[in-house]
Amino acid sequence: MTPMERLQAALNGLGLKAVEARIEGLLEQASKKQPSYADFLDELLSCEVDARRSRYLRARLQLAHLPFVKNFDQFDFGFQPSIDERQIRELRSLRFIHEASNVVFLGPPGVGKTHLSVALAEAAIQSGFGAYFMTAHDLVTDLGRAYREGRLDRRMRVYLAPKVLIIDEMGYLPLDEMGATIFFQLVSARYERGSIILTSNKSYGDWGSIFGDPIIATAILDRLLHHSTTINIRGESYRLKDRRKAGLFPRAEEDDRTAPFPSSPTLQNGPRRQGSTSSRKTGAPLPAAGRSADSP
Ligand code: ADP
Ligand code: MG
Repeated sequence: MTPMERLQAALNGLGLKAVEARIEGLLEQASKKQPSYADFLDELLSCEVDARRSRYLRARLQLAHLPFVKNFDQFDFGFQPSIDERQIRELRSLRFIHEASNVVFLGPPGVGKTHLSVALAEAAIQSGFGAYFMTAHDLVTDLGRAYREGRLDRRMRVYLAPKVLIIDEMGYLPLDEMGATIFFQLVSARYERGSIILTSNKSYGDWGSIFGDPIIATAILDRLLHHSTTINIRGESYRLKDRRKAGLFPRAEEDDRTAPFPSSPTLQNGPRRQGSTSSRKTGAPLPAAGRSADSP
């Protein structure tokens, strides 16, 4: 065995795959540049550390179950002037995750709610937080099945474990009573423990119709919004912008008549429920099997 072969066998045995793949180049470069021993070792090990970090991030990204991976740089804020970039900057600091507070993106289809949620999730993962993405419908279907099969508590843990849970497309489909109860339970269990990023095409005032019951809707909003940021996007669909340019769709003003976000001033900030406990007293019925998911 030549020294080079021995070196490669050792790197292989130690599982230093990234160094093994690049060792010849690294050695060649070192013989040219003549770095100090410390600099050389630093470069060698950094190569492995970086490779492991990106492998780890890729795995975390995959686990997060995102529908696509997009970041903030890919978002054209110029196209969506109703978004307050200062608010977005604050969210990007990820302070909301440390505070276990929630983020709600409201707006009609195509304005970038999912894109921004995914971008936040990606930033969270880059910073070492766990994230998990699910549409509201799939989530409630999954937990509903678990409830019927008597394993709601165990299944609930999947949605309680990640520091950031993204619930997409709340309100596209109404929930039945069981769905509403399960959703209430999930929001209660994550309350002040982990962040929820939620997107909806329905303004808060219309949430009663999602849950079929204004009392449970109030109880859910109470917990969801106590520590939260609402980003209300009132703009055009990005999906339609090119087709609109070609004259295939009506102008935005005409759209507004049917949009779920008429220019009601209360929508801009959403209801403020700071410190409110009134609806918490009202409570909401819980399926017996799930009660313990509410306690630590
Ligand atoms: P929503 O969830 O509000 O329906 P999406 O986030 O799915 O909308 O956006 C629809 C598509 O348009 C996605 O591919 C998204 O990346 C893109 N998109 C939306 N808004 C913007 C924007 N302002 N800049 C760049 N891409 C955008
Ligand atoms: Mg979406």
